[in-house]
Amino acid sequence: MVHTHLVVVGTGLIGGSFALALRRAGFAGRITGVGRSRENLQLAVELGVINDFCHDVAEAVIDADVVLVSVPVASCGEVFAAMAKSLPAHAVVTDAGSSKQSVIADARAHLPDMSRFVPAHPIAGTEQSGAGAAFATLFQDRWCILTPDATTDPAALEMVRSLWAATGSQLIEMDACEHDEHLAAVSHLPHLAAFALVNAVRKSGGDDPFRFAAGGFRDFTRIASSSPQMWRDIALCNREALVHKLDALIAELGELREAVTTADGAHLLAEFAAAKAARDAWLRKNGDEL
Ligand code: NAP
Repeated sequence: MVHTHLVVVGTGLIGGSFALALRRAGFAGRITGVGRSRENLQLAVELGVINDFCHDVAEAVIDADVVLVSVPVASCGEVFAAMAKSLPAHAVVTDAGSSKQSVIADARAHLPDMSRFVPAHPIAGTEQSGAGAAFATLFQDRWCILTPDATTDPAALEMVRSLWAATGSQLIEMDACEHDEHLAAVSHLPHLAAFALVNAVRKSGGDDPFRFAAGGFRDFTRIASSSPQMWRDIALCNREALVHKLDALIAELGELREAVTTADGAHLLAEFAAAKAARDAWLRKNGDEL
């Protein structure tokens, strides 16, 4: 690992934090950042996230040992296509994309050797973007879901496991389709709900519809400050699973609407109590404060 050359395509919150976490864990190899804007990559060098940078994916990976692709998911295909010809045969590729079936399909379409691609998704993040938002402990004690399949080279899988484990992540492996179903429910749906809620209030009229918004509104909508491009990509790249979860949420809201309209307090109480019990149990299981 000491002389390994790691190339991070997309040196933002996730790619930058991966690099910083590996440095913290003792990674002594070279880390090259790739991206489009010079300012972000220059900042990444100044912050000690990367050693050097390049704007050209093909050139950057020429002598790579490991490549992390951490760009918005709809851009993964163009990144895989750009690296295909110059990627060394021994190089291992992983990613951090929030949707897995779409990224795997893009990798299959463009990468020369799928057996050396190990898909990953760290279940950690913030609403911030860019290298300046990266920090070394982002992945500490957080899940990182790997979605290899029967064709994945065991040595490549082991290398990717060891890298994500070094970031402090807790590793778990599952099927990509199962991943996309789970994440549609607990990550993608809440982001759409937060964007929709802010817009519903924004459009509700008056001089300043947010004037009396307080802690509850802030807690609920924190993730609506996330990157619009990143979430557009996720919504489009996990459409099938997300539409099912949106239907489920719309049905729940419809039931609540009916109960409010008909002043069905018993129904409201039962639904609120069931939700509170489920959320409290989840927090207790995680050892979090209620
Ligand atoms: P980010 O902070 O916006 O970083 C993405 C980086 O990719 C930017 O620095 C951007 O720099 C670069 N980039 C964008 N398009 C590119 C392209 N075509 N070629 C090369 N570089 C490109 O986003 P992030 O939060 O790190 O997310 C990265 C990936 O991790 C996404 O796939 C996301 O789904 C996934 N993820 C995010 C979170 C989260 O909570 N944020 C959590 C888990 C996984 P330039 O604009 O300068 O090119």
